[in-house]
Amino acid sequence: MLKPKARFDKITDIDAKFLKDNNINALILDVDNTLIDMDKRPLENLEKWIENLKKQNIKICIASNSIRKGKVRNVAKKLDIPFIYFSTKPLKRGLKKALEIIQENPENVAEIGDQLFTDVWGANRLKMFSILTKPISPEKTKLGEIKRKIEKIFLEKTKDN
Ligand SMILES: [Mg+2]
Repeated sequence: MLKPKARFDKITDIDAKFLKDNNINALILDVDNTLIDMDKRPLENLEKWIENLKKQNIKICIASNSIRKGKVRNVAKKLDIPFIYFSTKPLKRGLKKALEIIQENPENVAEIGDQLFTDVWGANRLKMFSILTKPISPEKTKLGEIKRKIEKIFLEKTKDN
């Protein structure tokens, strides 16, 4: 349940061929530390990456756990994709809403995000293709650091032998 199907350094490293090879027709994207850093700066080449995938007919929707609607909406607006904020990952509610928006079977959808206990777990619970990316910014709080340490332990445990 906590094992990502695939791992990438950053979301823009994922190309259309990888998605097609894995029968992925749609993406559900995390925002914080996946698309933008802690200072709300977008990842380099993000718009170009989204543009290219749209041309390949990949459907895209944002599902962020952030309760800051304005922030999530700004990112979604800039990329011209639908969004859900306060999506309560790893619970199924928000991700199910995102699936309704993109109208795709979960097995043909990849959920991409930087956190094991929200993004990957949520995706796996709904039988989606889970992709874990590295967080763009380092954690700024003690609690954040602890969370990353726990993630690391779980990732080590589920690593392919
Ligand atoms: Mg995140």
